[in-house]
Amino acid sequence: MTRHPFATNPTIFGKILRGEIPSKKVYEDDLTYAFEDIAPKAETHILIIPKQHLIGNQDAQTGDAALLGHLMVTANKIAIQLGVQQTGYRLITNAGEGAGQQVPHFHLHLLAGPSLPGF
Ligand code: 5GP
Repeated sequence: MTRHPFATNPTIFGKILRGEIPSKKVYEDDLTYAFEDIAPKAETHILIIPKQHLIGNQDAQTGDAALLGHLMVTANKIAIQLGVQQTGYRLITNAGEGAGQQVPHFHLHLLAGPSLPGF
């Protein structure tokens, strides 16, 4: 994926990572930050993002495999932390505007809860 410098990531998620706008953190490690979605679509709705600025999965390349795999494993850790791993959860990434991607910084949506619609 195209990787942009942390300090100049102009997206809203870049501002969240730099602490320029507040967020409700649920998890953080060296590579990853996760926080509550501001407009939740389910009882549990967490955004999991890489600290590096990757635009989205539409830019994924072979060299991104380790980081993308780390995000998936991290999602399961967060599901355990939030108590939804046993009951089940859904991961979504919107890749490109035509799929509904509003924020051009890669993110996984972690969704869980009884009102999750069938898919
Ligand atoms: P996308 O549509 O790009 O897949 O998802 C972007 C998500 O970011 C949406 O679910 C939206 O509610 C969330 N979002 C947008 N702005 C903010 C913000 O300032 N803070 C938080 N916590 N979430 C945001």
